[in-house]
Amino acid sequence: MVIGAGALGLSTALHCALAGRSVVVVERLTAGSQASGRAAGLFKSVQADELRTRLARRSIAQAVDFADWAGVPLEVARSGSFLISRTAQHGEYLARELAQSTKWGADVREADPAQLDARLSYYRSAGEQFALWCPEDIYIEEPASLMQAYLAASRLRGVVVAEHEPVTGITVAGGRVAGVETAIRMITTPVVVDAAGGWVRQVAELAGVSVPVAPVRHQLLITAPVPDIDPADPITRVVDAAVYLRPARGGLMVGGFEPDPLPLDPRQQPPSFSTDDVPLDLDVLRRLAAHLAAEAPAAVAAAVAEHRGGLFTMCPDGRFAAGPVPHLPGLWVASGCNGSGFSSSPALGEALAAWITTGTPPPGMASLSPARFGPLPDDTLITRGLWQYAHYYDPAPAGAHQPG
Ligand SMILES: Cc1cc2nc3c(=O)[nH]c(=O)nc-3n(C[C@H](O)[C@H](O)[C@H](O)COP(=O)(O)OP(=O)(O)OC[C@H]3O[C@@H](n4cnc5c(N)ncnc54)[C@H](O)[C@@H]3O)c2cc1C
Repeated sequence: MVIGAGALGLSTALHCALAGRSVVVVERLTAGSQASGRAAGLFKSVQADELRTRLARRSIAQAVDFADWAGVPLEVARSGSFLISRTAQHGEYLARELAQSTKWGADVREADPAQLDARLSYYRSAGEQFALWCPEDIYIEEPASLMQAYLAASRLRGVVVAEHEPVTGITVAGGRVAGVETAIRMITTPVVVDAAGGWVRQVAELAGVSVPVAPVRHQLLITAPVPDIDPADPITRVVDAAVYLRPARGGLMVGGFEPDPLPLDPRQQPPSFSTDDVPLDLDVLRRLAAHLAAEAPAAVAAAVAEHRGGLFTMCPDGRFAAGPVPHLPGLWVASGCNGSGFSSSPALGEALAAWITTGTPPPGMASLSPARFGPLPDDTLITRGLWQYAHYYDPAPAGAHQPG
């Protein structure tokens, strides 16, 4: 059984069902209503290591072919994306990403300013820059559509999704997981996947297990429609500004990663705490967008039609926390999204389901063990998680100092 009907929980459930398992998903609120339903919907083939590149590219392929393997239609914008740097330091960083991503099989190419100007209606290059074109990248216009597709495909395969049913306990017998308690019943099961998103730590603590993530706020805005924006434009990520842009609902989506992010631990909030209670701060996005005033004026000037946010679960090393809990057989974790849980969910769910149903970890997956850091105090988790968030687009070169 799976705790949490977000992207990670539903994908794991669907893939377990495709492998012939009978699966129940128990969701405290409604399916897809928390971080997953509020994502920007961006998929990114350029990643910081080989495993994440493989998961990201496999996820893109699965999203594009969703109807073929899941039996339910899913609309995907096959827009491609630009990665842009406007400083020499970030240019070197993108050049490294170009070399390593190409080595790991991604289709990534250098792009010149003329190409940017020809392909983008909402961005004008100004001054020096280095850019990459990533033709494989896609986005899903409304993130709820992936959640609805997961739900429909899961139900087609017999998955039971119980909503408005919080898990309140995890029962352990003979040194292994025996079931869960919810607000209304006991469910007996030998396998429990904790995919509770921002609540993953408090759910694991029901079984006395610690998960190494720090929940951190992330926000985006969608402008009112802007006549000159071409909805067929690619995604743009400006790495030195830590800002991403894409067409959305006739306007522009603007999101970004502030240097001083807000940690927010639901364990210290009232029990009713949900994503609706995450405090939003438009000034954060305004300050980030101001770095692009010359290149993307609509990001700064257009009226805001929607402002939304939620929680990332950040790991100290920026990688997922996914796999079995070594000292408690039967308990699995699907978390540590580090801001890419929506877009990696197809392949991460597939890999976890393969591991759960065969007992063998797919290549590389054991390196994502939720136990890989050993015990870490909360302040270290938070310091490192915030660092990873603030450096989302420019992780330090190998060997560079990280805090904590
Ligand atoms: C504004 C924003 C933009 C983002 N943009 C992107 C993007 O472009 N690309 C990308 O890849 N990622 C993006 N992300 C990150 C992405 O949304 C997350 O990585 C992903 O949604 C995590 O999925 P999840 O299933 O772990 O969490 P959630 O979607 O939060 O699901 C967890 C579920 O567990 C449930 N739950 C919690 N406690 C219990 C309990 N006790 N019992 C039962 N159920 C419980 C919750 O109610 C929730 O529904 C974005 C996030 C935000 C906030």
